[in-house]
Amino acid sequence: MRIAIGGIGHETNTFSTLRTSIDDFHVRRGSDISDDGFWAEAGGGDVEWAPTLMASASPHGLVEEQAYTQLRDELVERLRDAGPVDGVYLALHGAMEVEGVGDGESDLLRAVREVVGPDTLISASFDLHGNVAPDVVAALNIMTALRTAPHRDGGPTRRRAVAHLTRCLREGIRPVCEMVKPPLLLPGEYAITEVEPSASLYARLPEIESLPGVLDASLFIGCSWTDGPHTSPAAIVVAERDRGLAHGLAAELAQAVWDRREDFGPDVETLPVGDAVDTALSAPERTVFISDSGDNVTAGGGGDNPDIARRLIQAGASGAVVAGIADAEAVRSCSEAGVGATVSLSVGGKLDAVNGAPLDVVGIVQHLDEPADTQVATVQVGGVEIVLAADRRAFASLGAFESAGINPLDRKVVVVKLGYLFPELRDNAPRAIMALSPGFTDLRMGSLPFERVARPLYPLDRDFAWSAA
Ligand SMILES: [Zn+2]
Repeated sequence: MRIAIGGIGHETNTFSTLRTSIDDFHVRRGSDISDDGFWAEAGGGDVEWAPTLMASASPHGLVEEQAYTQLRDELVERLRDAGPVDGVYLALHGAMEVEGVGDGESDLLRAVREVVGPDTLISASFDLHGNVAPDVVAALNIMTALRTAPHRDGGPTRRRAVAHLTRCLREGIRPVCEMVKPPLLLPGEYAITEVEPSASLYARLPEIESLPGVLDASLFIGCSWTDGPHTSPAAIVVAERDRGLAHGLAAELAQAVWDRREDFGPDVETLPVGDAVDTALSAPERTVFISDSGDNVTAGGGGDNPDIARRLIQAGASGAVVAGIADAEAVRSCSEAGVGATVSLSVGGKLDAVNGAPLDVVGIVQHLDEPADTQVATVQVGGVEIVLAADRRAFASLGAFESAGINPLDRKVVVVKLGYLFPELRDNAPRAIMALSPGFTDLRMGSLPFERVARPLYPLDRDFAWSAA
């Protein structure tokens, strides 16, 4: 059998004043996609892959129309050139919003469906932080999403989407997808799948999936920072044939999410910024990680708000590191000055000029990742090391700090531009505090200027009833 592979993935933060351009996308084409050992293993012997185009970009502001249509058109053209296929597998994120287009996945699936016709099975895998539009569910035959946040199951999720597709093709099954969406906003930071109530809810997915006639079950948390009409969690069940069965199970799962809506929350201390800094500096633990959650670059934050660095310097902190602040100009200045030089810098506050202002510092260049082509520069300002990056970058693993010449577990306070800590930091941080900072990824839903979400929507609205039935 022949199966086409493709996808365009983006998590769009519509509160960001920045835009996602074509240069922000990492694009693979043809054999660049299929050379990945994953496919040989995932397909089994009888699958011939027809790779088209796979593009993804880090979470960021609205996708420029030109960037999206260019990628979509190339994917569609390659799909058409591939000739007849038995199935299509798409790697998507969900939550892509495109200027002038709206919901990106709805548009992309319309285009793909147009090429392959109504009878070809299309299967897609998603990030659980996707917002799913009804048109997406209608266009797909098979869908599945990650089941862990922080994410640990990218490979198994893709494998599941492909395995369902090949099985359905081999056995002549035409599956059906049903979705029920509880009307709430749920930031990812409040739905860690290892802790309650998410742990119990996600534990139901394999149970649902093991029922006769059921192919797959997914629970999307959604992306709260996409201000769009489809922003909410979603319960999705794929049945082999029985639409009623799929709908009933999806409704049950959606109701369970709604019933637990007041129980979702952070699994670490959350504090206002000033308190987070004070608490970390006086903590007995050897190392305290502070998430600058309003400026979380893994959810579309600007990544250059220097406010916590400012507070640490003012507090006379020692052994503190702020990683990282996106500032290409400051990196260039450090690179030109060289290691050991004293530099005057105006740091950050340029990408997200709404929530932050530049911080003027005088410091000593401590480390450059590559003197010839510097992407990361570390500057010592009193007892605070500020890690400057030429791009918006999450220092989300211990290894990521190597480019800054720092072992974060040797420092007292480590500030990262994240919400929840990613697996390796989460597993190694002696203590973690989430600072409720302002920014494009503000966790305080009430302080964001929502305009396009469907109302009523908890917790923006609290005085309404909802039932999945
Ligand atoms: Zn995600």
